[in-house]
Amino acid sequence: MTASELYYLFTLAVYAGVDGMACIGLNLQFGVAGLVNFGFIIFQAAGAYAAAVLSMPPANGGFQQYVLGLQLPFPLPWLGGAAAGGLLAVPIGLIVLRRLRTDYQAISLLVLSVIANLVITNARPFLNGAAGLSLVPPPLTGLVDTATVGYQWLYIVLTAFCLAIVLIAANRIVYSPYGRTLRAMREREPAAAALGKNLVRLKMEMFVLGGVIAGLSGAILVGFIGVWAPATWLYPETIVLFAALIVGGRGNNLGALLGALLVPVGFEEATRFIPEFGPPGFIPAMQWVAIGLLIIGFLWFRPRGLLPEPRRVFAEDPAGGGAARAEETPRPGARGIGSAGPSTPLLRADRVARRFEGLRAVDDVSLDVFPGRITGLIGPNGAGKSTLLAVLAGTLPVSAGRILMDGQEVTRLPAYRRARRGLVRTFQLSSEFAQLTVLENLLVAAPAHPGDSLLGALRGTPYWWADELRLVGRARELLARFRMSAAESEYAGNLSGGQKRLVEIMRALMLMPRVLLLDEPMAGVHPSIVGEIASFLETLRENGLAILMVEHELSMVERLCDPVIVMAQGQVIGRGSMSALRRQRTIVEAYLAG
Ligand code: ADP
Ligand code: MG
Repeated sequence: MTASELYYLFTLAVYAGVDGMACIGLNLQFGVAGLVNFGFIIFQAAGAYAAAVLSMPPANGGFQQYVLGLQLPFPLPWLGGAAAGGLLAVPIGLIVLRRLRTDYQAISLLVLSVIANLVITNARPFLNGAAGLSLVPPPLTGLVDTATVGYQWLYIVLTAFCLAIVLIAANRIVYSPYGRTLRAMREREPAAAALGKNLVRLKMEMFVLGGVIAGLSGAILVGFIGVWAPATWLYPETIVLFAALIVGGRGNNLGALLGALLVPVGFEEATRFIPEFGPPGFIPAMQWVAIGLLIIGFLWFRPRGLLPEPRRVFAEDPAGGGAARAEETPRPGARGIGSAGPSTPLLRADRVARRFEGLRAVDDVSLDVFPGRITGLIGPNGAGKSTLLAVLAGTLPVSAGRILMDGQEVTRLPAYRRARRGLVRTFQLSSEFAQLTVLENLLVAAPAHPGDSLLGALRGTPYWWADELRLVGRARELLARFRMSAAESEYAGNLSGGQKRLVEIMRALMLMPRVLLLDEPMAGVHPSIVGEIASFLETLRENGLAILMVEHELSMVERLCDPVIVMAQGQVIGRGSMSALRRQRTIVEAYLAG
């Protein structure tokens, strides 16, 4: 093998490490958390630039202009590159992720990537413009001879070491309760928020961590090739990484790694061996066509990629000796009714209104929800029942009025903070986390799980496994109660409509709520299980839970609910026991007229 062939192989190996790391970072953001970061490459570029100027000598009037020039020893430039990627993600994330809807986030990040490149290319006084940087000293310059084959090997070992750390950290995240929460957010944001998940925080954490990983990968790259040019970091590079994820398998870190080997390394590099033909620029253009076809082909024929996200199956008896069984039996609503006595409302709506443009969907509604009672909410379609539930839970902001829990105002609290206080809603339309198993859907909702935070996840399985076992036990008891045990490892998206409802109710109960807002919980549920739900709701009522339930089946309302509140056209038109309401002509007419 000639020296240049050897060098080429070394280069491929380093590229594989760099692209592998970048793909794992993008996988955490896109594959796991569902963030579409079309600006991913900016963070790699930032890390590379930072690492370059941290390792270069001061720029005293040489042919290139740059900032810093600190000549820091290895590994500080690499750490600095990682930090730069993470730091850059903070302001961008705060602007993009807090304010914008998911689809706009993707577009703004793409635009940002294009703008960043234009600015850097033209910002000669600050960043040396389109020429970029060259003569970036390789790591350990001065300490070892960097021109030897041995140094190349060392570089590969260092790269592999960083890749291993990134992979271990990413795996700890993906296979932890925290990773489960990220996937739930990816599947359905409003439902995750309704279960107490702080979406902005989750997104920020993945945005910054992805930035750190991208920055580190950039630092490794620039240390190896010794140059930093803006033209290397154009937004299409991000598309190549997305293609790698789609081919390799979103949500699976090893899939991300495999994708990196196949697409950026294999695919892009392989075309170098094709002899030149056609007009100039023909082969690079064809490369783009091929990458486009690759994405489409995979999305069409193998949408989950070569190594799909694995389905999490929990062992029959994960404790291996019935330890999980030995736990106390679940008492839903076990948090008790707190300071409030049974006659004071746990939840109060005070002249609440919600308008959509001109439409008064909820118009000046006041109501109390008491512990130990199931309050019914009935009314014709479009009366505003679901909107009222959304406003109470914080899914939608109020247009006017106040909402109090335990006598404290929660009107401005976001949904996740209300959920953490024990206020949980279900949705009228099925809102299961489709690519999570039934058991995982339940586990997601568990509050205060030590593994359900970034740091908790990074500490590894032993830190949270005991809690996980306890929760699996609790979730399985709920599943048994609703005769869903057989489906525990099924993806929730594959269930029937009725089973999805059940999953949603059980999920809400896993949170151990104090106030439960149910939106037509029995719609579409098999008749044999409706009675089961009803008697379970009665048990919850006895345990002191405060329940507000929208229901169409009046016989069920009659059996369970007292009082019953009747809404029509956004307003409360009557309240009392069902039998009393039946005697009021106006109400019967309004209800039936809808
Ligand atoms: P219900 O649950 O009692 O059937 P909803 O609360 O779903 O009624 O709807 C009340 C009214 O508000 C309806 O007229 C509906 O069309 C309207 N509405 C609900 N959600 C929205 C929305 N996101 N944007 C605009 N109008 C809405
Ligand atoms: Mg509704």
